[in-house]
Amino acid sequence: MKRVALYPGSFDPMTHGHLSIIHRGLKTFDGLVVAIANNSKKTPLFSVEERKEMILTAIGHDPRVEVDSFQGLMVDYAKRRGISIVLRGLRAVSDFEYEFQLANMNRKLDPTVDTVFMMTGEDYFYISSQLVREVASLGGNLEGLVPEPVAEALRGKFVKTSKEQP
Ligand code: ADP
Repeated sequence: MKRVALYPGSFDPMTHGHLSIIHRGLKTFDGLVVAIANNSKKTPLFSVEERKEMILTAIGHDPRVEVDSFQGLMVDYAKRRGISIVLRGLRAVSDFEYEFQLANMNRKLDPTVDTVFMMTGEDYFYISSQLVREVASLGGNLEGLVPEPVAEALRGKFVKTSKEQP
């Protein structure tokens, strides 16, 4: 039987940190479903379609990886897909508290769901999508933070924004 894990997140946008977790996840699992949370409470920089495309381009269309999106509770989506393992990445100690709460809440909501954590590599522990968006909005160098197509898309967003706002 194939072991497939769910890797949920906002991926707004995908960073080298996310990519590193996906590559490492594939050493443990036969397949991954990267699931973009379509959260109506957050206003994302990139649409779900744009995020999906960026992830697929960064991964290079690996048949072991499916990219999908979901609305609502992650455990409900996992159940619909018949997946009981959730993969999450851990950066600094600061991630631990939130991830610990989330994993336990998800287990309370659905006891069949278990969360597996992977530590990020030392080159990526400081990278978050939020900081990347900030760096991009201020015209900073994105090399080593996100795959090149993502950097290009970020530059596109912020060039457009600065032109729109004289
Ligand atoms: P969320 O909005 O749910 O925090 P993210 O898109 O930020 O989702 O992240 C999805 C998952 O990827 C989370 O488990 C997060 O900890 C992990 N992650 C994000 N950035 C990194 C990184 N630089 N290294 C390792 N894991 C990361």
